[in-house]
Amino acid sequence: MPEPLTGRAAPTGHKEIKHVPDTHDHARSGGDRLALRADCASCFGLCCVALPFAASADFAISKDAGRPCPNLQSDFRCGIHSRLRDSGFPGCTVFDCFGAGQKVSQVTFGRSWRDEPDTAARMFEVFPVMRHLHELLWYLHEALSLPAARPIHSEVRGAIDETERLTMGTPGELLDVDVAAHREKVNVLLLRTSELARAGAGGRAPDHRGADLIGARLRKADLRGANLRGAYLIGADLTGADLRGADLIGADLRGAGLGGADLTGCLFLTQAQLNAARGDAATVLPPSLTRPAHWPEHWQAEAAPTAGRAPARRPRSRERRR
Ligand code: SF4
Repeated sequence: MPEPLTGRAAPTGHKEIKHVPDTHDHARSGGDRLALRADCASCFGLCCVALPFAASADFAISKDAGRPCPNLQSDFRCGIHSRLRDSGFPGCTVFDCFGAGQKVSQVTFGRSWRDEPDTAARMFEVFPVMRHLHELLWYLHEALSLPAARPIHSEVRGAIDETERLTMGTPGELLDVDVAAHREKVNVLLLRTSELARAGAGGRAPDHRGADLIGARLRKADLRGANLRGAYLIGADLTGADLRGADLIGADLRGAGLGGADLTGCLFLTQAQLNAARGDAATVLPPSLTRPAHWPEHWQAEAAPTAGRAPARRPRSRERRR
């Protein structure tokens, strides 16, 4: 694991890296990933029932797994959806099921846990499995949108086919899936994708895979093509940082200051990661992602949480990817 940069100046020594273009074929990645975007209207509110959470800066209350959140309405919609942050539930705005909720609701089961209480426990067990698989599909489709990864596109397509086949299993078959083994297999492809895509950054991009960068001062850091897989960037000050072409898969960006940062062409960056960070109107986003509504016009670094005061994480079914 590389040495943490916490408290040090922005890294130097890779100034020779030239412009890093956005390497994604966005028309392709957007079209193929529509089914992997959460459609809450087609879901039985699974993330609001199946998952537990603890009272913290992210959640106003504690809730056990399998118990419906008191804010979940009879139509499976959230009663405080438009004011989640103001109501003490910012953790709900940074969760993404990658479309697993509607798949389990409409394809795997078809009837809700309220209509068929006997199936509820099984449905709640299947949901995290499906989420794992859909998250992998999300990343694999992104890999397919990267022309630089063309040498392994046939293997990526094979992994997509296999993963999609797994998602179509019965509840019993889904619960038998060796998720860890499948993730490991897919991760090999994602790592190779990252290497191929970042090779264009000059070969001397910084490697901070899995690094502890909590609260790090990385203002205006040159992180073009950096490997930030699974890095802990909680509360880091990345104001004005150049993150073009960086691999951010699984990076923890909670409370990270991204005001004015350039995220063009970032690899494997998700909307949930962005929602958990703090950017502003000057943050340059990849075309496939949306500027979170709660971001201010101008980011104030002083408002970022300091190291050691990280918000609590909603228990998720995903492992950190490195
Ligand atoms: S507050 Fe709303 S979005 Fe969050 S768990 Fe409860 S019902 Fe779901």
